[in-house]
Amino acid sequence: MRHYVGGGFDASGVPFPLVDPVTGRVVGEVPEASRELVDRAVGAARAALRGPWAAWSPEERARLLRRIADGIERRAEEFTAAECADTGKPHALASTVDIPRAVANFRAYADLLAGRHERAWNTPTPDGRGALNYTVHKPLGVVAVISPWNLPLLLLTWKVAPALATGNTVVAKPSELTPGTACLLAEVIDEAGVPAGVFNLVHGRGADAAGQWLTEHPDVDAVAFTGESRTGTTIMRAAAARLAPVSFELGGKNAGLVFADADLDEAVAGTLRSSFTHSGQVCLCTERVYVERPVFDAFAAALAAGAKALTGYGPMISAAHRDKVRGHLARAAADGRVLAGGGVPDFGDARDGGFWIEPTVLTGLPEDHPAVRDEIFGPVVHLAPFDTEEEALALANAGPYGLAATVWTGDVRRAHRVAPALDVGIAWVNTWNLRDLRTPFGGVKASGIGREGGDHSLDFFSEPMNVCVKL
Ligand code: NAD
Repeated sequence: MRHYVGGGFDASGVPFPLVDPVTGRVVGEVPEASRELVDRAVGAARAALRGPWAAWSPEERARLLRRIADGIERRAEEFTAAECADTGKPHALASTVDIPRAVANFRAYADLLAGRHERAWNTPTPDGRGALNYTVHKPLGVVAVISPWNLPLLLLTWKVAPALATGNTVVAKPSELTPGTACLLAEVIDEAGVPAGVFNLVHGRGADAAGQWLTEHPDVDAVAFTGESRTGTTIMRAAAARLAPVSFELGGKNAGLVFADADLDEAVAGTLRSSFTHSGQVCLCTERVYVERPVFDAFAAALAAGAKALTGYGPMISAAHRDKVRGHLARAAADGRVLAGGGVPDFGDARDGGFWIEPTVLTGLPEDHPAVRDEIFGPVVHLAPFDTEEEALALANAGPYGLAATVWTGDVRRAHRVAPALDVGIAWVNTWNLRDLRTPFGGVKASGIGREGGDHSLDFFSEPMNVCVKL
């Protein structure tokens, strides 16, 4: 594993161990960036803003993004292997979702850049000669990108692509648990011919390490962060000291609503996906499902059967995270009912040393129970019945988070009534995680600040400036 700073690769720093979540074994080490290296990365990014990069036209930047996309695509199998090694996620998931989406992220922002235009206004003046107002978009400057372990390449590139598209320079810090694909990305970006210092990568932990040093750095102009809400609070405090803008994609406790008029087979299949994809370690995963009472028993039985039949899922990312999920399960089993899972699979091989949890369906817990209220971020879903649409909305909208929700209904009027009334950034009706990269993506309440996707990211990463010319 190497850092990439000022156009050069660097393996300096005290190493920390890299653990394979599938077996729990140490499989490598990662060099922890020193404060001096973080300073050097920020310095290189600052210097690059004044270098040849400043003169690159949007078309040249779009071509760069396409070369990066092509580079990832050419080495897709290597990227997939690195993503699976770091996260333990199934090959079928990484090869069809994570890696193709990283390619798509760069291509989407190359396309969006081509369609972007400046605005202009003809302004009347008393002397009749008028004035011309026009807006130019400038880069924010040096941007810190801090990303989590669950979708390491997808979420890193989701920020790096628009940041580079708009002419910024970047210092990226991936999660210390999943550095592999970020290293490959640095190689691809280097080969794509980006000027030295435009993209920099430093490895390290968050608190009292590279993450904190970056977010507190006086020469970092903005912070784009995806991770836990609690970390967001810490980062916002650091950025507030110098009034640096932040873009935050944070935690969630996403609700699903299943109405009696829904296609029940579709709702069950959709909820199995939305609750158990990547073993529940996707920020958009559904952790609590409210089911209209007449179909509650049928839905619960089918979902439990489906969860028991799931195979080919991956482990939790770390021993600490596994222990957190198991803590929730122990309390939930004591206070409610376990309809499926709840334990640790017994493989009888090296995987028994890894961080596995069975897909779990719970019911019978009160709404203020920690397993229903707190983000678990594991393969755990709680089911509860509801009687009216109003009650369903109130249940879904309760709590501190507001990232995503799913609604399962066969009534088109209800779909349009319920979905917009949900206090979330993203609502899916009769589907889950169907993405169009031009649409706004993000959360309300403790789930985030700002929106990513399409023009929203391009707007965050650029500073609009108005020029007024008296004619
Ligand atoms: P995390 O907050 O622990 O870590 C995320 C990143 O922040 C890592 O790179 C970490 O090293 C860094 N970090 C940690 N403490 C820091 C500090 N004090 N200063 C600066 N950087 C620091 O989150 P995680 O456990 O890696 O990811 C899981 C969380 O991310 C879940 O809450 C999940 O919901 C959320 N998430 C949200 C979205 C979204 O789009 N809303 C997407 C994916 C994950």
